[in-house]
Amino acid sequence: MAYQVIARKYRPQQFDQVVGQEHVTRTLAHAIQQSRIAHAYLLCGPRGTGKTTIARIFGKCLRCVRAPTPTPCDQCDECRAIMEGRSLDMLEFDAASHTQVEKIRELIIEGVQYAPATGRFKLYLVDEVHMLSVSSFNALLKTLEEPPPHVIFLFATTDPEKLPATILSRCQRFDLRRIPVPLIAQHLKRIAELEGIQIDEPALYAIARGADGALRDAESALDQLISFCGERIVEADVLSMFGLTAQQQLLTLAEMLLRGDAAGMLRELDQLAQHGKDLGRLLSDLLSHFRNLLVFQVSGGNLELLEVSDSTKAAIQAQAPQVSTEALTAMLEALTEAEAGLRDAASKRIFVEVALLKVMRARQAVRLDTVLQQLQKLRAEQAHGGTAAAGLAGPPPAAMLRPEFDTPRPAQPTAPEILAPSSSASAGGSAPAQGPVAAPPGSAAQAQPPVADPTLARLWERFLAAIEQENGFTRGLLDKAFPVSLEQQVLTIALAPDAAYNFDLLNDSRRLAVFRAKLQELGLPNAQVRVVQPQPSPAAAPVPVAPTGQAGQVAAPQAGGSEPLPPAPPQPPGRTAARSAGRKKEVQPLKLDPEQFKNDPLIEAALKKFEGQIIKVET
Ligand SMILES: [Zn+2]
Repeated sequence: MAYQVIARKYRPQQFDQVVGQEHVTRTLAHAIQQSRIAHAYLLCGPRGTGKTTIARIFGKCLRCVRAPTPTPCDQCDECRAIMEGRSLDMLEFDAASHTQVEKIRELIIEGVQYAPATGRFKLYLVDEVHMLSVSSFNALLKTLEEPPPHVIFLFATTDPEKLPATILSRCQRFDLRRIPVPLIAQHLKRIAELEGIQIDEPALYAIARGADGALRDAESALDQLISFCGERIVEADVLSMFGLTAQQQLLTLAEMLLRGDAAGMLRELDQLAQHGKDLGRLLSDLLSHFRNLLVFQVSGGNLELLEVSDSTKAAIQAQAPQVSTEALTAMLEALTEAEAGLRDAASKRIFVEVALLKVMRARQAVRLDTVLQQLQKLRAEQAHGGTAAAGLAGPPPAAMLRPEFDTPRPAQPTAPEILAPSSSASAGGSAPAQGPVAAPPGSAAQAQPPVADPTLARLWERFLAAIEQENGFTRGLLDKAFPVSLEQQVLTIALAPDAAYNFDLLNDSRRLAVFRAKLQELGLPNAQVRVVQPQPSPAAAPVPVAPTGQAGQVAAPQAGGSEPLPPAPPQPPGRTAARSAGRKKEVQPLKLDPEQFKNDPLIEAALKKFEGQIIKVET
């Protein structure tokens, strides 16, 4: 018997022999069993995934002497004629060949009028159907609108997007997938056994990876390797023949990217380039390795989802804990960008070197929402003398302090009203730059309105401490909130006017549940929590100021660290109104001195945490 290429010799002849497209073959077999045959089928998918193979098997199912059957006999004249591509009633056209395009039009349009020479159905298989001319599509459309009952069209295409919608809507569409690497490797292994070829597993996986989901490419590669190497094939043969990178080298390179070892990475890359490895291929191999790492992490360590050999699985298990999901995503994005840009690169090697250095840097990227969360936490720590800001010198700029609160509270005629002495800032000038001086003791605490009821104040303190232990972020949200009352088991919490944006976050049902649980721990088993919106402050929207009884007004201490005045007696209406006007000025944006800004403990702590630097100060 004459030599036959592997792809042809092992071409599937039955639906159950088709590799990796069960979702298509099973549906078609059912349709035949139930005699629900459509007039036009569209098979879409990458090259070498089995489109024409499936179409021919389908043709045999409908034209075999046993037809209709999902398991054609492969013995009768018609089965063999279709297998050899010489059937008179199953005609094949290739729209990709220019010489055929116009002929197709004539043949199809003329031919559909005539009944099949034998059997019930006449089939037209048009490969790469998207290449047909507009006039061919128009002619085809007429036939598709009113197809003769004996005609079935089988269209195959690698590019369904290019088909007119009028054609698409008249076809039953099937999408063939790229065949997974392990399935290709398994299929090649079976062929090798039948051919009496010795081939090791890394070699099988290398061929399968190189085929990129196309079984026919993998079979052709095996063919070439057999004629090149004889009856024994190892991974090195595959790699050198196709310019692929050994899986081990790839894993080493990935390891260096993860560790941030730039020198090692460049050395490794140099080795690969000197051995003439395909650098574009290398990038896409790295991309799929990092994708595997991400899948492994996100799936909670599920190795079943990965299409890799056992040795690679072990490497993935070892590498995944070295990197956060966040950093991995950033690295994947950088690799994707690099792969897209490689085509236009003048020097592929330099491009890949720079690209991999960028990937390495992406590893250290911090997402913006993490930055915000950390900042919230820092702020919370600072406000409560936490570790981040403790001991740091320098007065906080006025803008960083809480502005006054003005929320109606239970009338307390004797409640203290604290006002800081006016400074250059409140007079409209800029705050003077100052050397580091000790912050006024307790200035942050005094920015909070004092809670008149000592029991409530104590409860609030313990409540905040309990929340702090539970969740730093939630604790940060309460930074600009204060207790209004505890009445009939309801703890009412009000927000400062400049923290109104936290209202929805605090009213979240899960947070409220946490609050209730904490109150329960503090000995209030049935307590509820109510968060109320801040009232518009007189500074933001001037309203008549109540003459007396409006307790708890606090003006922010000005930069400079002056001690607040002792509590003042209730003031006559005139003076309060005047002060209200004075406060209005304070809300104007303050001009910040960058030097002073740098000395702010919160900024300093943030810079340290993110290893950042101040580039520009905007007010
Ligand atoms: Zn047959």
